[in-house]
Amino acid sequence: MPVAHVALPVPLARTFDYLLPEGVSVKAGCRVRVPFGKQQERVGVVVASGDKSELPLSDLKPVIEVLDDEPVYTPAVWRMLLWAAEYYHHPIGDVLFHALPILLRQGKPASAAPLWYWFATEQGQAVDINSLKRSHKQQQALAALRQGNIWRHQVAELEFNEAALQGLRKKGYCDMASAAPAITDWRDGYTLSGERLRLNTEQATAVGAIHSHADSFSAWLLDGVTGSGKTEVYLSVLENVLAQGKQALVMVPEIGLTPQTIARFRERFNAPVEVLHSALNDSERLSAWLKAKNGEAAIVIGTRSALFTPFNNLGVIVIDEEHDSSYKQQEGWRYHARDLAVWRAHSEQIPVILGSATPALETLHNVRQGKYRKLKLSKRAGNARPAVQHVLDLKGQQLQAGLSPALIHRMRQHLQADNQVILFLNRRGFAPALLCHDCGWIAECPRCDHYYTLHQAQRHLRCHHCDSQRPVPRQCPSCGSTHLVPVGLGTEQLEEALRPLFPEAPISRIDRDTTSRKGALEQYLADVHRGGARILIGTQMLAKGHHFPDVTLVALLDVDGALFSADFRSAERFAQLYTQVSGRAGRAGKQGEVVLQTHHPEHPLLQTLLYKGYDEFAQQALAERQTLQLPPWTSHVLIRAEDHDNQQAPLFLQQLRNLLQASPLADDKLWLLGPVPALAPKRGGRWRWQIVLQHPSRLRLQHVVSGTMALVNTLPASRKVKWVLDVDPIEG
Ligand code: ADP
Ligand code: ZN
Ligand code: ZN
Repeated sequence: MPVAHVALPVPLARTFDYLLPEGVSVKAGCRVRVPFGKQQERVGVVVASGDKSELPLSDLKPVIEVLDDEPVYTPAVWRMLLWAAEYYHHPIGDVLFHALPILLRQGKPASAAPLWYWFATEQGQAVDINSLKRSHKQQQALAALRQGNIWRHQVAELEFNEAALQGLRKKGYCDMASAAPAITDWRDGYTLSGERLRLNTEQATAVGAIHSHADSFSAWLLDGVTGSGKTEVYLSVLENVLAQGKQALVMVPEIGLTPQTIARFRERFNAPVEVLHSALNDSERLSAWLKAKNGEAAIVIGTRSALFTPFNNLGVIVIDEEHDSSYKQQEGWRYHARDLAVWRAHSEQIPVILGSATPALETLHNVRQGKYRKLKLSKRAGNARPAVQHVLDLKGQQLQAGLSPALIHRMRQHLQADNQVILFLNRRGFAPALLCHDCGWIAECPRCDHYYTLHQAQRHLRCHHCDSQRPVPRQCPSCGSTHLVPVGLGTEQLEEALRPLFPEAPISRIDRDTTSRKGALEQYLADVHRGGARILIGTQMLAKGHHFPDVTLVALLDVDGALFSADFRSAERFAQLYTQVSGRAGRAGKQGEVVLQTHHPEHPLLQTLLYKGYDEFAQQALAERQTLQLPPWTSHVLIRAEDHDNQQAPLFLQQLRNLLQASPLADDKLWLLGPVPALAPKRGGRWRWQIVLQHPSRLRLQHVVSGTMALVNTLPASRKVKWVLDVDPIEG
């Protein structure tokens, strides 16, 4: 009896065995319908089949239906998903289903839906067309049908309508039939179209280098400031790839999927471009997916989840703004689309291009290690003037809504000139330090030179490095002031506080909370372009999308929050934000200004960034991380647990920690922090705790974790908490 090992979309890291009918074999990657639980049916994916099971064969239930003859995954995607389930310690069923369009998860056929067309019946061919005099539209419709069949989806483009056709049908003159859509090969009619820019030397070098490695794996960092012509390089690389009859995957951050970006790709190529944007419905999404899989689409552009698109003959992967945090999925299966894209490119033996003006430290580290090669674009095309930068010292200033009088004054000026203003808050992964507003003193752990994090709920300061804690002081030990404040403020509070200050200026807040609804981001952005909002409040995610010609003033409000955060990544995020926004302010012939508010204008990081630039900053930051043995020099795995009583979560994590330490694979290089409260210690009525595991060897850490996670359900507290595991976390 053949046995199928089936992955199901359930939170269990295992497969389930079912019997296949005698003589039936099912390939790995095909879907089946199986019984599950009490009188339930589920769609599952066959991971493997054989003739053995750990259970007696007589206990196994039979597969109800085999849904596919051929796997729904391409071999490269399949390999990537199996690898990723292990690497991220995430249930295989969840991973495999995540990579499928919704309709396929539901068991719908993995083939294009048949198309319907209208045709004239024999009666309709024979009848005297003048007998339809009373209905002009029906007359037109029948005349057209006699010329040839009409696709139903094209009726809207004709001079008659569906009602006329239905009228004819009632008379028996026409009817509908369906046909499988024909697969058209874009390669047949493909020619290079349109005029193109003459590449400058650096661009041509980059395109040439990538082209000369087109037939094998190679990873490239395309490092170029905003406006230096990275997109032109992508387009030229794609020309070469399409000319060879191969396809291309272009990934952009959430905010990068703007009409302008899409238009540039569509204009350049007379080949089908599929765009996976959030407004697609389920069948449109499936259709795009199928077109990529059967080779009908030449180019697919999309955000994070476009990574799972199957291709018939993929020739290159481009990841624009590779440093962008939207490539990391932050719930459920927490994969990093950039890292997986590099894995996929390796498995498909094709080039992958990571483009950015502010490369992630991980990526720069990989360049140094010789894993990626760097291509530099140092010149800016066009003649945008650099923005004027102002550093405002906040010490002792009277603040309103976190804004200094000087900033409020400038905002008024820019608004009166009918321009727009953006205020940035770097709120994500935010953990406030305690700061003296009068002298700038910051509460610091005496043991490890690490900033204390203020835990307001518990009224204490905590070091997230050595886990020591102390009560919140009443007075500044340096100047005696009692004006001690947490650094920074959330976007929501800022919006509220701003309204009374600028009652006449419409405000728009763009962050993950306001844009979580489908299509909301696009709406907000369109509104800003129309000039509907005068003041924009944004987080990091807005840095990329901001090419608004009327924005002339950009202010970064909580520089201190980034410089003195317990999250070691916040300095990097701040440097990226600053570099991205100052590279964009003042484009269309208008002088731009960038304002930084800080209590510490002399901070070395700030000085390096302002006067030497991002590259120099990145070198310093990497050196500092090496000293502290932080990623990318080491690997992290974070395990977070939540409870209702603030007791079960730390208990569970302590038990888990003991288990991890007892692992036979744990050596003295394994470093564990915690259980400590998460940087956001309470959310949605739940207390959040975490432990962080660190090891210089990614592989060793992976083995320790897999060995231990197999036992996690044996821990008594595991049933009383909600826990998640985050490999290579980017916050917390
Ligand atoms: P990036 O993607 O790095 O921001 P783009 O490719 O969008 O840069 O280029 C910025 C601007 O410069 C665009 O308007 C583009 O048309 C123009 N540009 C790019 N390369 C060239 C070139 N070789 N010659 C002239 N203009 C160019
Ligand atoms: Zn002080
Ligand atoms: Zn400490």
